[in-house]
Amino acid sequence: MACAPQHASFNFFAVAATTAIVQQREGRPDGGAAISMGAAAACLPSLPDILEPSLHPNHRRFFHSATFAVGMVFAMHRVYKWEAEGEWEKLARVLLLAAGGAYLAHLALDALSAKSLPLI
Ligand SMILES: [Zn+2]
Repeated sequence: MACAPQHASFNFFAVAATTAIVQQREGRPDGGAAISMGAAAACLPSLPDILEPSLHPNHRRFFHSATFAVGMVFAMHRVYKWEAEGEWEKLARVLLLAAGGAYLAHLALDALSAKSLPLI
């Protein structure tokens, strides 16, 4: 099992790289967005472990599953396409993207472990 510092550093690099790729693909200047999103994701290293605490090696259930990850990708796409209008909506959108990215990065690192992720 990866520990919180490993998840934090992986979250940082995974979310920063993903943000940089999306910014470049959309033709937007980065402007520090990749570093900011990566730092925010690093502050949330263990969201899935809040729902399913890693008290034993077989703690990974539904909220650590590949099925839940696919649902998170769908939800993240919806949030990404959300055209937020007010300042609070824009802040909520960015926070949801950072938290969702952190959650998915955590699952990605868990998937690379020997136990991997359950299907459901
Ligand atoms: Zn985990």
